[in-house]
Formats: sequence, C-alpha cells, structure tokens
Amino acid sequence: MRSPFVAGNWKMNTTATEAERLVLEMLDKLDKIEGVEKVLCPPFVSLVAVSMMLQGSSIKLGAQNMYFEAKGAYTGEISSLMLSELCEFVILGHSERRWYFGETDEIVNRKVKAALANKLKPILCVGERLEENEAGRTEEVVSRQLRGALDGIEPVRDLVIAYEPVWAIGTGKAASGKQAAATIQFIRAVVAKLWSKSMAQDLRILYGGSVTGANIAEFISYLEIDGALVGGASLKAEEFVSIVEKTAEIKGRKK
Ligand code: PEP
Repeated sequence: MRSPFVAGNWKMNTTATEAERLVLEMLDKLDKIEGVEKVLCPPFVSLVAVSMMLQGSSIKLGAQNMYFEAKGAYTGEISSLMLSELCEFVILGHSERRWYFGETDEIVNRKVKAALANKLKPILCVGERLEENEAGRTEEVVSRQLRGALDGIEPVRDLVIAYEPVWAIGTGKAASGKQAAATIQFIRAVVAKLWSKSMAQDLRILYGGSVTGANIAEFISYLEIDGALVGGASLKAEEFVSIVEKTAEIKGRKK
C-alpha cells in the first residue's frame, strides 16, 4: 500500500520572516492530518528556521534543489551533504530548473545519485512541454527524462516521482485527472521495465501542475495518483491545508 504524499514547493517566494509566518499559519492544522506524508519545501535561506519550527511535528522538510558535488569551490551552490542535516527530501529535475537553468537529464542524474548517497530522498520531476504534448510526444519525453535521471541507479524505494506537465505549471491550466493518471500509469510501466514490477507498484507518483483545493479531488480519486506536488497553492496556508485534508479523506476512503 503506497502512502499518500503532498509536498508544497514554495519556489523563490517568502523572505525568512514570511516563511516563518506561513509555517505558523498552517502548522497546527497540517500536523493533525493523519494518513498523508506532508512535506514543505521553502527556499534555502529558510530551511534552518523552518526545520526548527517543524521539530516534533509530523511535517517533513524538503529542499528545492542542490548541486551534485559534496563540497568545494562551487561558489553559491548547496550540496546534498549540507542538506542532509536539515531535510529528508529534495526536489530534483523541476521543469523550472531544466528550462531556466539548463539542467540536462545528465545533470539531474548526477543530482539524484548525490542525493541518495547522502540519504536525501529525491522528488524527481518529469513532464513534457506544450508543443511536445500537442505533438503526441508525452510518453517519449517522460520516458527519456526518467531513463536519464535513473541511469545507473539501483532500485530504491526512497524516491518519489512527480509528473508535472510543463504547460500546467503555474498556468492555472491543470491536466485532467484522466490525462495525469494515464501518464502516471505509463511512468509505472517505465519503472517496471527499468527496475521491476514490484518497484513500480511501490513507488509513489504524484501529479503537479496548477493543483488547488478545488481540483485536488479530481487527481487523487485515481488509484494511480498518490498525491500532489503543489506550487502556488502551497503559499496559501488555508488552501494547502485543504489540499492535504482532501487527500487524507479521499485516499483514506479507498483503503
Ligand atoms: C510546481 O512548482 O511544482 C508546481 C506544480 O507549481 P503550480 O502548482 O503553481 O503549478
């Protein structure tokens, strides 16, 4: 049985003061929701403060990015070794990293390896761009990204995959539950070929892209979809809590 999972990606939003305020606004309610793994991914500068605020709670911490080297002369970078003292998760391969910062499948692969080497659990993002979707190339793109990111990596359960169609991220135009579930089913088939059927059944696979309190039910009603990676809506305390509550309720009913 895969446990439901919801992560909030705050992206480059919130000063340290705002981050603390946002955590305070959602902490108690979020903490009490059972049956869903809950993860907050604030910017690097707030990780220490947020990690202290989350101590003793059921909410986990994730980073939004990292560099693949462990330490050294890489001015401005943050390594998995550094993050491993603070976080349990790290988002890797996010489309904003791929398209604004030129991250290739090879770079994502090196990051996944470095994260796992330091006991950080990657939330690996894959997803096609609009023109790729319209050209019917979704499966080809997602398969290439997955094979690239997981190249040379032994089967590992400490991995969460997020299917995030680029055209749905931050646009308010979410995929349909049916579309997302079909691609996630395909992702499981790729994992089954790469690793094994049992790994494909055990890994959590999320949908991400304009998820809100109003549409979360459409996604998590599908057995294939184990939860959500939430961007914009995770910056609104009430809305994020409602997304997690609905996930707990709907997935709880399906047990
Ligand atoms: C994201 O940043 O991973 C994301 C899905 O963003 P949004 O929910 O704002 O589309």
